[in-house]
Amino acid sequence: MTATGVAIDIGTSGVRAASLDLETRTALAGISTACHPVPGGNLLDHLLYASRFGLVSAHRIMIKTINALIRDLALPGAPEVIAVCGNPVQISFLTGRAVRDIQYTPESARSREEPALPHEAMVLDSRALGLDASCDLLVPPAIRAEVGADAVALIRSAETAGDGPILATDFGTNSEMALIVDDSIFVGSAAAGPALEGQHIRHGMLAGPGAITDLAYDWGWKVLVLDDRMEPVEGDTVDFRTGATLKRGAMKAAGITGVGVISLISAGLATGVMEPPRIRAPPGELSLQNGVVFTEKDLFEAGKAIGAIRAGQMALAEHAGIAITDVRTFHTAGTAGSHLDPLKARDVGLIPGGVDRIFRHGNTSLALACDLGVGEVRLDALQAIADAAEHIAFSTSTAFRENFVREYAYWCEGAPRKRESISGTPRVERLPDRWVPGCTARTRPRYRIAVSDGARYAHVCPNRAIVAGDDCLEVDLRLCRGASCLQCAARGLTFGEPI
Ligand code: SF4
Repeated sequence: MTATGVAIDIGTSGVRAASLDLETRTALAGISTACHPVPGGNLLDHLLYASRFGLVSAHRIMIKTINALIRDLALPGAPEVIAVCGNPVQISFLTGRAVRDIQYTPESARSREEPALPHEAMVLDSRALGLDASCDLLVPPAIRAEVGADAVALIRSAETAGDGPILATDFGTNSEMALIVDDSIFVGSAAAGPALEGQHIRHGMLAGPGAITDLAYDWGWKVLVLDDRMEPVEGDTVDFRTGATLKRGAMKAAGITGVGVISLISAGLATGVMEPPRIRAPPGELSLQNGVVFTEKDLFEAGKAIGAIRAGQMALAEHAGIAITDVRTFHTAGTAGSHLDPLKARDVGLIPGGVDRIFRHGNTSLALACDLGVGEVRLDALQAIADAAEHIAFSTSTAFRENFVREYAYWCEGAPRKRESISGTPRVERLPDRWVPGCTARTRPRYRIAVSDGARYAHVCPNRAIVAGDDCLEVDLRLCRGASCLQCAARGLTFGEPI
């Protein structure tokens, strides 16, 4: 019988798993959830959930989800190894171990005498954790509480391609970044907030059918909308300044993703219709289609996120003793990074203006878990990367603070921006992902809320996440804002078990 293993990536936008043939060192099949199984759309929501409903609850949800994914992978035999990659919060949900140090800055943790938790590589007993498998569970190391094994995965991928200095960034609510200069690695993580994941944006949404993910110029701005197969198709073509629809498209829009927000800001800056913090179109907002608008408040939220990431990148450069203009190669990964148009990201300031090459990676975390599972990389080699990285705490970095103040003044107060000039067109390359399994299925996590008269409650959710099931209410977690909302809980509904 084929010796098999399982690789798992627990990300903020979902859990992905691949079955591995340990002899041929290939992936057999893949499966993922359509969103994170813990209610909420970003890392802060997930932390809030754990703090309100208990880590035990988040742990139970994670174990139940992973057991379901492994079952649906239909392995030919019992797994001989499971390898899991994720940031420390996700690993904490998996292991049930508290990760309290992420809740405090280093000084505040010291003054509260919070113990610094170990983030070393681990080999755990899968059955003891509650998984339906009896084998070793390999967990790669994190660098700090807020810079996890997913950052180690990104560094490992970034080291392989391009001339130095090399900058790598995983865009998200907690944007992890690494700067590699000769043999030195500097890492940090910018608390950018969830705007680049489509949240805190009036009509923001996660990627799904009806989500605006891009815009293209076509004698007006053509909106690109995801269809049911998650492929971008043409929506309406609009005139930003008047809000007029110039041409009707085939696909209706329901909202805009974080990647769509970056594309929109790139277009808005290029046309001059956006002059942060103002939008020069009446009534101070851009009309896209089907009532989806982008407001000055949205620009404020997205600008803060962009500013935090850029301030982090500049702070790493200053700590490394180089100018941001010295960076030659940029690597991007993560869900947002792999869908983001890198030239539009460069336009808004997320990628330094002078880089020659931009590499787009697929899922570096799942690739690391696969490599670990089949034995192509060992935990001690990953520990060596984590140990070699010098962590820069942005919460105490003067360079970060000064750069963020400048960025905030530009995006939120209308101050002129000093930015390195954008030179030439960098070569953009998408690195092949050898671990893309032959077949990938997606499951939609749902929650059950047991009530007898469900229809009465179906309308309490402002995000239309609650639907009436046969004998209960069901929450579609792709739409649920989790612990940052809880308007259903205020009406007496209690989350039950994930379905
Ligand atoms: S009201 Fe809706 S979005 Fe808010 S927590 Fe409940 S189900 Fe989620």
